[in-house]
Amino acid sequence: MQVTFLGTSCSMPTTTRGSSSVVVRLGRELLMFDCGEGTQRQMVKAHVGFQRPMKIFISHLHGDHVLGLPGLLQSMSLLRREKPLHIYGPTGLVQYVKAFSDSLGGPGFPVVLYEIKESGVIFFSEKYQIIAVPAIHRATAWSYCFIEADRRGRFYPEKAEELGVPKGELWGRLHSGESVMVDGKVIESSMVSGPPRSGRKIVYSGDTAPNPELVELSREADLLIHESTFLDDLAERAEEDGHTTALQAAEIAKEAEVKQLVLTHISSRYPDPVVVLDEAKSMFENVVVAEDFLELSLELE
Ligand SMILES: [Zn+2]
Ligand SMILES: [Zn+2]
Repeated sequence: MQVTFLGTSCSMPTTTRGSSSVVVRLGRELLMFDCGEGTQRQMVKAHVGFQRPMKIFISHLHGDHVLGLPGLLQSMSLLRREKPLHIYGPTGLVQYVKAFSDSLGGPGFPVVLYEIKESGVIFFSEKYQIIAVPAIHRATAWSYCFIEADRRGRFYPEKAEELGVPKGELWGRLHSGESVMVDGKVIESSMVSGPPRSGRKIVYSGDTAPNPELVELSREADLLIHESTFLDDLAERAEEDGHTTALQAAEIAKEAEVKQLVLTHISSRYPDPVVVLDEAKSMFENVVVAEDFLELSLELE
């Protein structure tokens, strides 16, 4: 599983940072969080395909998070995409997509829109679920959490051999969780495999002031992607605008005991992001400041 930061600026793109977007590559599937202006060009540069199964989760309808959608949908139409694209976001998403589609035409493929009305699970499959909780911002905004389903425990062939289970089909059935019968004895899957391993968890804050609900949602996450628009000397301004400081984001990571924190939505006020990093590091060690095209691999344990 790879997490690629396509845009990491706040408000306006800069010479080095594009507008907000992060993409998670999950096998062939893409999960995109926000789609700021210019996201499609960043996708081309990062070799993120336009034809893959894809879901987009929009945090809120501020331009720096959604202006990339018209261009991306147009390019997908030009490329004759046929697969449906699923887009989730706040109330107003349908009107926004309709407005640019009415003027520009298209899209030439199915786009399925979901306006989120209440917090909770907004998508569920055998492989993973997505949870949305309200963010604290000047617009209706959502934070998202990806939770992978628990995976089967490790299979121990030597234990299966010890118990006299012949290699082959029976091993496969034990590994998939079934019990099997060998010489009149029942061998349970748990006798030859370890405990289930929990899936990976990624949280994307979007624009938000520090949010206790997000701390709970982020508990022991593998990766917390949190906005960090200001340094703590501007904490008052951050609160007024519904944003978070680097120090506050680090406090959230510490309280939630996440494994890694990545700060994004970086202001042009801080051309050298080391000041952002230093402030966060004073509170939480395992933190990086995102830059465009930063790529993280989240390996299975
Ligand atoms: Zn923003
Ligand atoms: Zn915003």
